[in-house]
Amino acid sequence: MLAIKNRKDPGNAARGAQRWAVSGFTLIEVLAFVFMILCVIGGVVFAQERLGGRFGWLWGGLAGLAAFFLLGLAWAAIMDFGFKGIPRLPRCRDGCCRGEDYKLQQYGEEFNWVCRHGVRYKRRGRRFVLVNDNGTETPYLIWRPFRGWFPEGLSST
Ligand SMILES: [Zn+2]
Repeated sequence: MLAIKNRKDPGNAARGAQRWAVSGFTLIEVLAFVFMILCVIGGVVFAQERLGGRFGWLWGGLAGLAAFFLLGLAWAAIMDFGFKGIPRLPRCRDGCCRGEDYKLQQYGEEFNWVCRHGVRYKRRGRRFVLVNDNGTETPYLIWRPFRGWFPEGLSST
């Protein structure tokens, strides 16, 4: 599941791997691992009871593993959909505007979110960027799965 995320997001792969190496396994990864073992054991037990035979357990185990990865893919897809579709916007740079304080305004060809301070922002997938007056963009926040919004580029300094 994590490998899938990294493949889609190569820019963060190195940073993410570095963080995991430092902090060890996160809770969600431990839970996923335990769940994977349970899937395999479940498959083995099921196959032994229903299929029997010499290699019944092996097929059951493989089926359990496959089921785990399919569930992982489904979960990743749900999460992807979840955070691409979240209507809630993070706090503005000044820290006091929340989701409902932003207004969508048109600038030329495109729409930007404007907070009460008059600062322009734009959502780019998982990123929330500042839009400068001349139209250039400054990285601001990035959404990390299970963790929320983080200042972009902070972990690379
Ligand atoms: Zn603001």
